[in-house]
Amino acid sequence: MAEFWEWREAPKADFAVVGDPVSHSLSPRMHTAAYDALGLALRYVAVRVPPVEFSDAMDHLGGKGYRGVNVTVPLKREALEWAQSADDISIRAQAANTLNLSDRTAINTDAPGFLDTLSELKLTRKSALILGAGGSARAIVLALAGSGFDVRIWNRTHQRAVELAKEAGAVALEHPAPGDADLVVNCTSVSLAGGGDLPLEWDQVLRDAAAVDLMYSAQPTAFLQSAQRRGLRTVDGRTLLVAQGALSFEWWLGMSAPREAMAAAIE
Ligand code: NDP
Repeated sequence: MAEFWEWREAPKADFAVVGDPVSHSLSPRMHTAAYDALGLALRYVAVRVPPVEFSDAMDHLGGKGYRGVNVTVPLKREALEWAQSADDISIRAQAANTLNLSDRTAINTDAPGFLDTLSELKLTRKSALILGAGGSARAIVLALAGSGFDVRIWNRTHQRAVELAKEAGAVALEHPAPGDADLVVNCTSVSLAGGGDLPLEWDQVLRDAAAVDLMYSAQPTAFLQSAQRRGLRTVDGRTLLVAQGALSFEWWLGMSAPREAMAAAIE
């Protein structure tokens, strides 16, 4: 478990990741490596913020001199509501993952970060099955649909999948049938809870597909282990963590992020 603070006890620092829980986050290690690589005298820490205290916590951190925060589960909607202005993708996804505390602006770097991670996968069919309909799924579904993917969505609570599908011009599934998907993305937090596998019929997934889990952990998640048994290419959440973190860094600091140093720090 990495070091973290309760928000009232947060130390003097420049940036933070806020979440609940937050102890699993690799963001402090990754951003610290970026500052070290560029010789920047900045500090990035992890701070636990319960959802009902989000607004008070942001005011407190801003007052303490924090310039910005990354926002993780389950606070991305609260982040959007706290912001006085936000970029288009945050508003459409109803989720912001990056805040500037000085001017109360918000952006979502999960969506563009996710698209950045796809370039190496060379997907030709552009057909995606998304598991989940929470904040990250919303951002990713909208990003994929906007990039010409056929998107199908399955979610434990079906009605949320229906609503998201309607908004994105996608299809909501009662069961996660992979069809001709060349991209299967786990956007649920089932792995975060140490949970088991999702009801996906792995033997139906085409073998040239890539499986992406937004979650990361020391060992491959149950989802990625199943994908590996099927012989699929797999990508874990570290790739997205670097991509979204680099975009946040660049938005806050106005300079190129050292992506290789950031990735090396969390291998
Ligand atoms: P949300 O809380 O907004 O959504 C959670 C989703 O998971 C919902 O669709 C929910 O379904 C589903 N879910 C939760 N528990 C289960 C379960 N036991 N079985 C099936 N489905 C379940 O979270 P986010 O969308 O913000 O984040 C989801 C995951 O992605 C987290 O693990 C997060 O850490 C990770 N993430 C990683 C990033 C990275 O940089 N690597 C970036 C963004 C997210 P329901 O609607 O039925 O409740």
